[in-house]
Amino acid sequence: MIKVDQDKCIGCGLCSGMCPDVFIMNADGKSEVLEQGNEACAKGAAESCPVNAITL
Ligand code: SF4
Repeated sequence: MIKVDQDKCIGCGLCSGMCPDVFIMNADGKSEVLEQGNEACAKGAAESCPVNAITL
């Protein structure tokens, strides 16, 4: 299951840019999971997240 740690996310927007089908920026300026499923893309985003906020 793809998750974003809201306490760690700094709102850089990288993950939603890489995987717009998985991540969306919320009203707090943080990323949240829009839809589970594209784990291949989410894995790349998790590896690229500067604060390691994404787990799956
Ligand atoms: S890449 Fe990481 S820090 Fe940047 S918006 Fe996504 S979860 Fe937040």
